[in-house]
Amino acid sequence: MLLIHSKNELKSELNQLRENNQTIGYVPTMGALHEGHLSLIEKSVSNCNSTVISIFVNPTQFDNPEDLDKYPRNVANDLKKLKERFSDNLLIFAPSSTEIYGEELQAEQFDFGEIENKMEGASRDDHFNGVGTVLKKFFTLINPDQAFFGEKDYQQLLIVKKLVEILNLPLQIVGCPVSRTKKGLARSSRNKRLTPQQKKEALLLYKSLKWTKINFGVKTAAALVNKIKQDFKSHPDFTLDYFEIADAETLESVTNFKDNKKYRAFIAAFIGEVRLIDNMALN
Ligand code: AMP
Repeated sequence: MLLIHSKNELKSELNQLRENNQTIGYVPTMGALHEGHLSLIEKSVSNCNSTVISIFVNPTQFDNPEDLDKYPRNVANDLKKLKERFSDNLLIFAPSSTEIYGEELQAEQFDFGEIENKMEGASRDDHFNGVGTVLKKFFTLINPDQAFFGEKDYQQLLIVKKLVEILNLPLQIVGCPVSRTKKGLARSSRNKRLTPQQKKEALLLYKSLKWTKINFGVKTAAALVNKIKQDFKSHPDFTLDYFEIADAETLESVTNFKDNKKYRAFIAAFIGEVRLIDNMALN
């Protein structure tokens, strides 16, 4: 396991691996690693000879300076977790912001089509351009065979697939299932900012998705959405940002369910100042 901070050192390590015909898996993260991240790394380790993990809190994907500021950062702790779980063949790339962006912290503008304007794209200004900008830099630098992303950020997963198509990269994007606590809370670095009481309450997101899945096909889409919106209105500790039932491919909001389509429910809510997201396949 090697901790690397500079692009040049990473390049020379990767050149050696390539010379030895090693396949390279890549797992981008913003650190504060938890079981969700580790599940992606496990997948990469089982699919590829070597795995690169980036730990980089990407400034251009945050529209809220306070959220960026409060994002948990602890690379030493992340390394400890990785060493406990994995043995060899991991390259940990933890660059500074200047190493990646130079002096110009600017997001490139991409055309991801309709999917970029919905949900996370509508709620967070320029978010997906920031994600696209940093991933273009990392994909170009690392040139991995496969890259691993969580369905926890399902819309991001679709955006990344679109980015790879736009840039015409020889890279396979592998989606991995949402990792949850025993009770169902989707694991997230932001959960660290919740009090124990808020952590219990945050289960409302999971319960809402689960209820929607159980009642999918029994009630209309409008009835499902209204019920969840009402639940959140009557809960003083939450502010619902969005709850949507959408086509899993296009993310178009759904009014009538069709037999041959896949649907997912998506939720984003503030509990106190912390914004949580989750989603679930309905069929
Ligand atoms: P982040 O550090 O939040 O940017 O996440 C890095 C990667 O881990 C992204 O591909 C996320 O979708 C994924 N991820 C985060 N939380 C989870 C989770 N609970 N289950 C599965 N993947 C996750």
